[in-house]
Amino acid sequence: MGLVELVPPKEIEMKPVAIIGAGITGLTAAFYLKRAGFAVTVFEAGSRAGGVIQSIRENGFLAEFGPNTILETSPKIKQLVMDAGLQARKLDTDPKAEARFVVRYGRPIEMPGKPLGFITTPLFTAKAKLAVLREPFIKPRRDGMEESIGQFVVRRFNQEFLDHAIDALVAGIYAGDPHKLSLPHAFPKLKALEDNYGSMIKGQIFGARDRKKSGEVAKDRAAKFSFDEGLQVLPDTLAAQLGDSLKLNTPVTKLAQTSDGWRVTTANGDAEFDKVIYCGTAYKLAQLKLEAKTTLDMSALAEISYPPVSAVVLGFKREDVTHPSSGFGMLIPKIEGFKILGTIFSSALFPNRAPAGHITLTSYIGGARYPELGLLPEKDLVQTTLADLRVLLGVKGQPVFTHTKTWPHAIPQYNVGYGKYRDLLNQIEATTPNLFFAGHYRDGVSLGDSIVSGVNIAERVGKLS
Ligand SMILES: Cc1cc2nc3c(=O)[nH]c(=O)nc-3n(C[C@H](O)[C@H](O)[C@H](O)COP(=O)(O)OP(=O)(O)OC[C@H]3O[C@@H](n4cnc5c(N)ncnc54)[C@H](O)[C@@H]3O)c2cc1C
Repeated sequence: MGLVELVPPKEIEMKPVAIIGAGITGLTAAFYLKRAGFAVTVFEAGSRAGGVIQSIRENGFLAEFGPNTILETSPKIKQLVMDAGLQARKLDTDPKAEARFVVRYGRPIEMPGKPLGFITTPLFTAKAKLAVLREPFIKPRRDGMEESIGQFVVRRFNQEFLDHAIDALVAGIYAGDPHKLSLPHAFPKLKALEDNYGSMIKGQIFGARDRKKSGEVAKDRAAKFSFDEGLQVLPDTLAAQLGDSLKLNTPVTKLAQTSDGWRVTTANGDAEFDKVIYCGTAYKLAQLKLEAKTTLDMSALAEISYPPVSAVVLGFKREDVTHPSSGFGMLIPKIEGFKILGTIFSSALFPNRAPAGHITLTSYIGGARYPELGLLPEKDLVQTTLADLRVLLGVKGQPVFTHTKTWPHAIPQYNVGYGKYRDLLNQIEATTPNLFFAGHYRDGVSLGDSIVSGVNIAERVGKLS
């Protein structure tokens, strides 16, 4: 039974729970615990709720600075939208905007959707196409060695497939480096396809039945959505239901174990809680002062790389962009030599992102590929983006809407060896009562993963009380 249905008997006193971090993980956990009758307090270091989710509306344009869409990969995501009363404000992506482009030969080429399209696409040479046809016959690796996604793709497909397809997809998900990202930690579902079906292609075909049984949906088939006024609607709605229990501008600096719980220290003083759930970031967790009955050393979490990423949101007059920009967006492999990682065709996905006769393009710069570019000043971010968009999409005029947002620590890189950080968190949870960890640094980096992480931690903590 989920916590969603858990209604506490009135006579049981529900002890207070502290949640650190008002990103989507912390807000989701707080929402469900509060609904189940727990006294929750959410401490947020920043001045707003939502963490890396941030949407702004200006002059008819809507800019997303962090994530653009939620992938509905789990029934728990749909359930949260319903429980938060947001069904009517949910916006599905325009079904006409399915096309995804990958840059090759210096221009965006549509990725093939159907098998026939794969045979005829100019995106891959005959050699790469043959490598895909050969993949089901390549023996699975069973020696337990942890590979990078790059090693895995070269082993099962070929170098061209890595350089011209997977490198771009990896930039789109993690802003990461395929030679560093761990197959089992960053792409557990791909690893499971090889482990369970012996091949990715066979797993795609035969795994559909198993996924249907579990209610999970593969990322490439999952519905994508946002809300009428952008993704910020979700954290704003969850935050509003918390009222005074959400403490903004209140970074937690210290946790001290008491006889039956935890003392939480902020600049505003101390307060005691029965349980603490940390839903912040790994690099801030490494800095937290900890006093516990056993030695807790989380300093290793500071090693987790969070390279900077900047979002550059530009609005143009429709006639100033030659490319129809009528799909999801374009991804750019490093080998193509451009500086931006990719561009989302935001107003094709959700038509209310630009006023009539205009379009909005959201590009990303930085990541593990070019961390120094992610920290460029605003003027240079815009010029660098414009230079690439002029070549790739035939942008002619100047933007009529310009916003940039730099995330100095954007997305944690689940690089080879990431298991030691997860093991550390598991071990601390197992040996230190009433302290829990959830969120993007532990349970997967997508927005959907963070929502599921928040629901799951609320269920675990709820059942323990
Ligand atoms: C640029 C960008 C684009 C993305 N695009 C997508 C996308 O299109 N689709 C998708 O699925 N995912 C995307 N993601 C990933 C996804 O948005 C995040 O993984 C997810 O939102 C993380 O939520 P969270 O609550 O775990 O963490 P966060 O949003 O990082 O929130 C953590 C919060 O904890 C607070 N905090 C930390 N330490 C303390 C402390 N000591 N005391 C108090 N507060 C503290 C922080 O201030 C922060 O507000 C993107 C991420 C970025 C950065």
